[in-house]
Amino acid sequence: MHLDRFPRYPLTFGPTPVQPLRRLSEHCGGKVELWAKRDDCNSGLAFGGNKTRKLEYIVPDALAQGADTLVSIGGIQSNHTRQVAAVAAHLGLKAVLVQENWVNYSDAVYDRVGNIEMSRIMGADVRLDDAGFDIAIRPSWEQAMAEVRAAGGRPYPIPAGASEHPLGGLGYVGFAEEVRAQEAELGFRFDYVVVCSVTGSTQAGMIVGFAADGRADRVIGIDASAKPAQTRDQILRIARNTADLVGLGREITEADVVLDERFGGPEYGLPNSGTLDAIRASARLEAMMTDPVYEGKSMDAMIRMAKNGEFPAGSRVLYAHLGGVPAINAYSFLFRKG
Ligand SMILES: *Cc1c(COP(=O)(O)O)cnc(C)c1O
Repeated sequence: MHLDRFPRYPLTFGPTPVQPLRRLSEHCGGKVELWAKRDDCNSGLAFGGNKTRKLEYIVPDALAQGADTLVSIGGIQSNHTRQVAAVAAHLGLKAVLVQENWVNYSDAVYDRVGNIEMSRIMGADVRLDDAGFDIAIRPSWEQAMAEVRAAGGRPYPIPAGASEHPLGGLGYVGFAEEVRAQEAELGFRFDYVVVCSVTGSTQAGMIVGFAADGRADRVIGIDASAKPAQTRDQILRIARNTADLVGLGREITEADVVLDERFGGPEYGLPNSGTLDAIRASARLEAMMTDPVYEGKSMDAMIRMAKNGEFPAGSRVLYAHLGGVPAINAYSFLFRKG
């Protein structure tokens, strides 16, 4: 496998820490060891997260093309667009962000706090758009590209979640290589990796990275899109493309894509009662904060699977914490009593 064929522009602190979750493991019955890899703490660029790790492999292409404006898209509380705004500020580029109405939620200051607040403070051109949730390529985004061009700028397109970009899967191939190096130091291997999936390139990259040592199907994707068929297709397509790019040497098949659909409801961006319980449990037992859109859903999945004995006794389970905490500000009503 040849990840090193591709240039990487450093935007993160380096390998992210792996830590045991002792109190949470005990809470789940003590039969499995729960650990976390903290990609939520991966960068000093406006709190970082999984998109920052992906962007390390996309930025060299943007710079090579002489772009002066990064153009991207997401929901109003998109973590992804906030990370694009941060990377643009860091590189001295402009950012145009199309922020769509992906979530049926209207906390009083939903469109003013958290991610979107930070994007505005970092100087991004934030444009609210009424379109609903869709992870595919959108007309509003193509229009933003055309406007930058018409004004004499050089736009560089970054799709939702940096996923449908040819290089979007590479960052999380690197995550798997990092885990392997950390396992060598720890003296054991993780049996499962739990990861939240929506636009798909995080899990797709991990599948390719862990396929290299036969663990592709030990990456347990937790759907948070509540449109799992589309997310599953996108994961498979991106994993295949990424496997070709890095020369994995084998086909990625449907069996390599494990996507659990039980925890994503009721809709993208809306938590269920299990999500909220999991957010509180992780916060109260480990001071590890998670959010109602993404990581609270994968945390709920890991807790419930551990409690139900779905992981064989003695398993070591690695929770990939992908970030997203700034969004909790937009959901303050839900947590008004803790
Ligand atoms: C984007 C995001 C995800 C989902 O990652 P995809 O690559 O889009 O599947 C999960 N968690 C957080 C915090 C995110 O910002």
